[in-house]
Amino acid sequence: MAEVSSKELYEFKKTLKELAQKRGRGTELVSVYIPPTKQLSDVGKHMRDEMGQSANIKSKQTRKNVQSAIAVILETIKLYKQPPENGLVIFVGMIPKGGPGTEKMEKYVIEPPEPVTTYWYKCNNEFFVEPLEFMIEERDVYGVAVIDRNEATYATLKGKKETILGHLTSGVPGKHKAGGQSQRRFDRVIEDLAHQFLKRIGDHMNEAFLPLKDDLKGIILGGPGFTKKDFYEGDYLQYELKDKIISIVDTSYTGEEGIREVIARAADDLENLDVMHEKKLVQRFIQELRKDKGLCSYGEKQVRNNLIVGAVDTLLLSEDLTSMRKTFTCSNCGYQKDITVKTQAEADNLEEKCPECNDILKETDSMDLADEFVELAEEMNTDVEFISTETEEGNQIYRAFGGIAAILRYYVDY
Ligand SMILES: [Zn+2]
Repeated sequence: MAEVSSKELYEFKKTLKELAQKRGRGTELVSVYIPPTKQLSDVGKHMRDEMGQSANIKSKQTRKNVQSAIAVILETIKLYKQPPENGLVIFVGMIPKGGPGTEKMEKYVIEPPEPVTTYWYKCNNEFFVEPLEFMIEERDVYGVAVIDRNEATYATLKGKKETILGHLTSGVPGKHKAGGQSQRRFDRVIEDLAHQFLKRIGDHMNEAFLPLKDDLKGIILGGPGFTKKDFYEGDYLQYELKDKIISIVDTSYTGEEGIREVIARAADDLENLDVMHEKKLVQRFIQELRKDKGLCSYGEKQVRNNLIVGAVDTLLLSEDLTSMRKTFTCSNCGYQKDITVKTQAEADNLEEKCPECNDILKETDSMDLADEFVELAEEMNTDVEFISTETEEGNQIYRAFGGIAAILRYYVDY
């Protein structure tokens, strides 16, 4: 998997969201998915076939639009000798801006974060974005471990695919075979062996999961009996991994079967796991908020300041944040001022005057407020986490803190 930064992922998600909303007047929006192994000459041949077929489209307007879209695709693939590493996705179509006659040709060429696996050509009144959406969902990796006193198995879960990373057996004898020695001494030996086993499991899991920790969204522990709880409560797992444990579930089985059992249960609420990840972040923020001089900050202005000085560890942005950051300029003297607005109407109604010459300032630049913050975060190596409003915690970030909150590296007094 290619490394994709949170910013790239955010941009990618945002583009997808925009693409998903676009509609053509007729079935004239063309989507093409090209796997990395596909010959572009074959794609070209297919496009020319489709061009020929499109002659049968009844509506003159739709026919014309489909044909020009295909022509754009043919031109686009000519720019490549072969598909990029992960293949290529191209969307082309006439998108109406208002009433009839306002359509404009739009083209999006995407090199996706994961390989395109299937060749698609689709012509519809909307773009075919599902395979790309699926790719993003598939990115999340979870760690799974099933532990009991006799054995331990650990694996990763990516999308719906599990990969067993290791299997350990304890060799700890059962509790009742005292066999000659005094029961107490025997119990102590067993206890020590059990501890040694948990330590071994921890060492192996640290080795397997630590290199993945940035991609790891959470770890789920399972198993029959109490051993998994002993494992959780003891400090067998490195603290950053321990922090990622989001669920402990009872299973009937151990080994691979136990892993599948855990996944089957989690599959019902993989989304819940996402939600738990969000909840944990917001709870960390709230905990800091309760402290005197806690490592947290919220609101547009304060968080921006903290971002600029590099004091932010994790930036929490509400997915529902829709404010825009506008630059207003005086056409007379060039004076500029950045202003945040909630809607375009608000920007249009602003009658901000130039402090130098009293002229009305005009809007000259605009970006999403979220984009501005993501860019600032990127410059300082700050993690960005987008928080949905599906949870009570997420709602709180949106409503009580203006959709912008931060967990800080250090406290800054303003
Ligand atoms: Zn001025």
